[in-house]
Amino acid sequence: MRRIEALEVLAELCGRHPVVVTCAATSRELAAVRDGDNHFYLLDAMGLVGSVATGLALGLDPDRPKVVGIEGDGSLLMNPNVLPTGGYLAPANLLLVLLDNGVYGSTGALPTYSSRVDVEALAAAAGWTTRSTDTADGLRTAFADLLDVDEPAFLHVRIEPGNAPDVAKLLLDPVSLRDRFARWLREDHLAAGRNS
Ligand SMILES: [Mg+2]
Repeated sequence: MRRIEALEVLAELCGRHPVVVTCAATSRELAAVRDGDNHFYLLDAMGLVGSVATGLALGLDPDRPKVVGIEGDGSLLMNPNVLPTGGYLAPANLLLVLLDNGVYGSTGALPTYSSRVDVEALAAAAGWTTRSTDTADGLRTAFADLLDVDEPAFLHVRIEPGNAPDVAKLLLDPVSLRDRFARWLREDHLAAGRNS
């Protein structure tokens, strides 16, 4: 499975979830598949998906759809302390999806440590409920399973190295992205309040 194929599945599954997405190729491929006001692209903020997603999960109503973080292996291994932090603080409404291609895909495909470091075991040791897969069907099944758990959830998705061709750079203004996402969060919660 290529990254963009995994993102096609995640875009389909995440329509009602706040989504925090790692920088560079992952952000622009997700935006090319489907952009949405519920997407918060962390442009140039490598390593911070787990931090932002954990903070959001702690701050949001736990009865609303879970916060989904979409992270890469190079980025997670740049800031792996997000795993003990999330495991310790333990928001029940947090699902971190790791798209692991074994390389820094946006910067020349140099290898990351993920071929020798078991990142799923790291997450499990830190208190996350984990699943792993390398197929689109497995991604759907594991994602659904992890929506039902009451502690931080970690989904390790093995993907092929390589970036999708002919995907435009994501040149949206970060301030506009922040404002758009914050507005979506407010309106989503207001709508949830009217429906409850
Ligand atoms: Mg990678």
